[in-house]
Amino acid sequence: MTARSQSPAARPPGFVYRETKRGLLRRDGPSVLYCEDVDMLDLAEQHGTPLYVYSAAMIRERYDAFDAAFREVPHTICYSVKANSNLTILRMLARKGCGFDVVSGGELERVLAADRKAAKKVVFSGVGKTREELTAALKAGIMLFNVESESELWALAECAGRLRKTAPVALRVNPDVAAETHPYISTGLRKHKFGVPIRDARALYAKASGARYLKVRGVSVHIGSQITDVAPFGEAMARVADLVRELRGDGHRIDYIDAGGGLGIAYEKASAFSADVEAYARSLSAPLRGLDVRLLLEPGRSIIGPAGVLVTSVLYRKQNDGKRFLVVDAAMNDLIRPALYGAYHEIIPVKQSPVQQSAGATAKSEVTDIVGPVCETGDFFARDRELPVVGEGDLLAILDAGAYGMVLASNYNTRPRAAEVLVSGGTAKVIRRREKVSDLLRAES
Ligand SMILES: *Cc1c(COP(=O)(O)O)cnc(C)c1O
Repeated sequence: MTARSQSPAARPPGFVYRETKRGLLRRDGPSVLYCEDVDMLDLAEQHGTPLYVYSAAMIRERYDAFDAAFREVPHTICYSVKANSNLTILRMLARKGCGFDVVSGGELERVLAADRKAAKKVVFSGVGKTREELTAALKAGIMLFNVESESELWALAECAGRLRKTAPVALRVNPDVAAETHPYISTGLRKHKFGVPIRDARALYAKASGARYLKVRGVSVHIGSQITDVAPFGEAMARVADLVRELRGDGHRIDYIDAGGGLGIAYEKASAFSADVEAYARSLSAPLRGLDVRLLLEPGRSIIGPAGVLVTSVLYRKQNDGKRFLVVDAAMNDLIRPALYGAYHEIIPVKQSPVQQSAGATAKSEVTDIVGPVCETGDFFARDRELPVVGEGDLLAILDAGAYGMVLASNYNTRPRAAEVLVSGGTAKVIRRREKVSDLLRAES
């Protein structure tokens, strides 16, 4: 990883610097990062750090942009709960008419807790659904089961038969399409554990349609996550469209094509989301022309990623043999993406001094690693990063942390999980309180 300088354009629009009246009342006084109309220094003071902060306006805007991009095809957005499953965020999306993609019984319970009526817009994905989970989803009356193997098909038929309730089924097919992303989050190749090979699909659909309590309704596909080139989505969709024509020829009713999620976000540069999602929509929609299906979409990261940041304070500055480190109070247990995938996150100071604001200023910057307190060398947020000089006690914002941040948080090193705050205009609401060590000890004997 190379050093990168701060580019103001890279900042998500929900998080902007504003001049503050703090300290000297001068026009060139320090400026502070705001989330919407809320000063993030105040937020950190009130709620402590590490702290996840989300912008409600940004979540809504991104959902609306996504929805608008697909205006020309009948569609339902089923937000991927695993990207960020906070109840308040789910409720907010449900109010906008959003459906949900769940990958466990626990996520289904969250959706139902957020909005009882959302069940009819839920799709259930995942390679290892248990009979208990299948039964719970049948009872809730979800829209679609994305079945990933023949064994699962029979398990679902058995659970449905026991309840005498018909299960709406799509098979998740593996289109064998390569997409440029991290190998851990690529899913659309033959060698991956997901879905059934597209060649075997027709035979499986024939079996499914023979089962009394299964009802074939669609075809599903998901080729991976953090994919920024839209071409592979179109390629996968073209293969699925061919399959749909074959299946209809075989006499199956296909109402839905579930295109999965996976649209990437720009972690390293500024990007206009509406343009990206329009390109994505064109790539997905083109192969579907004339098919008369409802398109289901399962975006996670692209809705919530840039709408959240992780705020952390600098505990210590240190140097080992000339190498600089900023030790911060957030760690890999709070945000594991850098440790797990070597992921890049833009990091910016919450308070900016005037020299840092002027274009091209480098005098007050340094190259440093930003690391957490956990006892692992992998516990870093950035390596050899060029950053404005900050002192002990100063705050940093780790950007684009809204997706796969808090949901992947753990209690490693017996670290209580961070609090989450949702900002809307000038108000901030705690949507998950900070954990206490006593919360962690409670489940143990
Ligand atoms: C993870 C996942 C998604 C969401 O992926 P994003 O990259 O966050 O958009 C959607 N569908 C399925 C089946 C998934 O596993």
